[in-house]
Amino acid sequence: MEPMKNCEILLRARYVLTQDATRTVLENAAVAVDHGRIVGVGPSDAMPYDADAVRDLGDAMLLPGLVNAHTHAAMTFLRGVADDLPLLEWLEQKIFPLEASLTADIVRASSLLGFAEMLCTGTTACQDMYLFEGDVLDAARTAGIRCLAGEGVFLFPSASCKDWRQALDLTRERARVLSRDERLAVSVCPHSVYTTDEEILRACRDLSEKEGLRLHIHLAETRDETQRCLASYNERPVERCERLGLLDVPCTLAHVVDVTDDELEVLARHPLATVAHNPSSNMKLGSGSAPVPAMLDRGVAVALGTDGPASNNQLNMFAEMGRAALLHKTNGRPTVTPAQKVLDMATLAGANALGMADAGRIIEGAPADIIALDLNAPNMRPMYNPVSHAVYAATGHETVMTMVNGEILYDRGRFTRFNYADLCAEMDSIRDYVRKKAGLS
Ligand SMILES: [Zn+2]
Repeated sequence: MEPMKNCEILLRARYVLTQDATRTVLENAAVAVDHGRIVGVGPSDAMPYDADAVRDLGDAMLLPGLVNAHTHAAMTFLRGVADDLPLLEWLEQKIFPLEASLTADIVRASSLLGFAEMLCTGTTACQDMYLFEGDVLDAARTAGIRCLAGEGVFLFPSASCKDWRQALDLTRERARVLSRDERLAVSVCPHSVYTTDEEILRACRDLSEKEGLRLHIHLAETRDETQRCLASYNERPVERCERLGLLDVPCTLAHVVDVTDDELEVLARHPLATVAHNPSSNMKLGSGSAPVPAMLDRGVAVALGTDGPASNNQLNMFAEMGRAALLHKTNGRPTVTPAQKVLDMATLAGANALGMADAGRIIEGAPADIIALDLNAPNMRPMYNPVSHAVYAATGHETVMTMVNGEILYDRGRFTRFNYADLCAEMDSIRDYVRKKAGLS
């Protein structure tokens, strides 16, 4: 008999989807958590731990917290304000004009609402790109979620920065301040190839390399983007990023829908690049379907993201997993993007894309980012295969507990760090302000 060890929390549950190297699923298992880390995983009745607190989740399954690899959390304030339009018309005629009246306070409250939605649907970490990103980070600190956040860098002035140089200065400064933060970090975020120029992209790449920061860009999202890029620079978006060295630093490429086989080969030759697949946004904006099965075949790393809530309109990674698993099957290919691969995208690949190579799994030594899904919901019964239920049956709202860094942030309907009713009241007044700005009232 092993001697008993102490830990802060012992979680017990019917199933544990470990996402370890062999994708082990444990039944009647427990997870020991101490100082923000997982210190033990094993059969519930044979865990040598004397815990300060034992949390028996009963008929539930524990999973690694999901990782949203591409989002704009603050855009909750625009959820449902403009739907059913193509990307460039939606962005340039509806979203950019409304964003011109954005304030830091709106960003802080709207981001907190976004993080609330993520936490209550099982997301423990996200990669965000937006304006006033310092306020997004403030909201992430309030919520307790992990967030890799970057100020959008544009050729033109934004609501938060007078020019691209200021956006990069802010990036550098915030990265210094947060260099030792356990949950928050900063990335370099050129918005896209069609809203920047060569000088900006080179400067972003150089900053990324010099400061050791990850880079995050929208890339090859639509055919229109490719046409603009060809017309302006006589090269396709992926070629442009390759030539300017953006693929040589650790980077996340959001969307990657309009790509040729040659471009997929380029991506496969750049192991520091991860594609963030956003099936809901691509479907909603009519952008098309990213060739995810071909990416996976070539060994391209593919993570999963919701994109912003104005183009989805949810920040729910369970919904996103379901759509990712279904979308690629529509052309008579039911065997592609199987449930386990999709769960890998939402956990392991996402964690890698955020620079957290040891996360996205429930194994000894990993960060204690863990969620619990209630299995009593009608859509979760009967149980044959927990991975299948996580991807195809769950809605995300079966989440009963969300833990980040060993701290429970969402517990059976309650956010432990902030007052949700106050936040809703604040969002109502933001909606009234947006309605006035948009001429809706
Ligand atoms: Zn986006």
